[in-house]
Amino acid sequence: MEILQAAAELQARAEKWRQAGQRIGLVPTMGALHEGHLQLVRAAARENDVVVVSIFVNPTQFNNPEDFRLYPRLPEADAALLAPAGCTALFLPSVEQMYPQPTVLTFDFGPLERVMEGAHRPGHFNGVATVVSKLFHLSRPHRAYFGQKDLQQVAVIRQLTADLSFDLEVVAFPTVREADGLAMSSRNRRLAANDRAVAPRLHAALEAGARLVTAGQTAEAAQGAGSRLIAAESAITPEYFAVVDARTLQPLVGVAQPGQPVALCVAAYLGGVRLIDNLVVQV
Ligand code: AMP
Repeated sequence: MEILQAAAELQARAEKWRQAGQRIGLVPTMGALHEGHLQLVRAAARENDVVVVSIFVNPTQFNNPEDFRLYPRLPEADAALLAPAGCTALFLPSVEQMYPQPTVLTFDFGPLERVMEGAHRPGHFNGVATVVSKLFHLSRPHRAYFGQKDLQQVAVIRQLTADLSFDLEVVAFPTVREADGLAMSSRNRRLAANDRAVAPRLHAALEAGARLVTAGQTAEAAQGAGSRLIAAESAITPEYFAVVDARTLQPLVGVAQPGQPVALCVAAYLGGVRLIDNLVVQV
């Protein structure tokens, strides 16, 4: 596995791989890798000749400077995990490499970003779309891998890819969980022991809401039940619990139509650490 730090170096490699007819898979990450990331890398290795993993804690997608400062950074440990998972090239750029000059262009994804993460983290998806566009141009992937754990991010990136005619396939990978249901996340490392113990309640609340949706109850009933379960745990400060159409991410009203995919999405703080999770179900 080679480690590339210069944007121009990655671009030159990608050009060579393309000329040699090799299929390129890209897995963008912010590092502090866990099994969820590694499953994306293994999937990319199965489906492509070359796998590029980027690790970049992207400042432009953090609306909270404290969250950016405290975000775990473990490049050596990450590099050791990536080679056995099938990574060909680790792209580890500095902020200056990714942003040689301040960006001016801004993205607006319309209704897609007026809800949930977009509504609660102003500028977040602009930063995501900026960095992902740069990574697409630098690594020229045939396929790019993202986790469904960040459901709204996947929707935004599909929109970005379609709107800007990026010639690649966006692959969405199912959420990888701990044995107790907690969605794996780099931020889990920051949880105090007592908060880690109650964190699986988020998934349990999503499941409780999902059971009501699949039993034919209204979105409002599912939203109420899920929110109450979370509110009952004093260590959890909820931000939102939403029941939405999984394709448009707009709030579901009433009972889901047969065949309509429904997403239950949650964001909450545990001891200052912000976690998100979701479940997609169908009636
Ligand atoms: P991050 O490093 O958190 O920005 O995540 C990098 C990629 O890994 C994103 O596409 C995430 O959606 C994905 N990812 C993060 N956690 C998980 C998980 N538990 N299961 C599957 N994919 C994940």
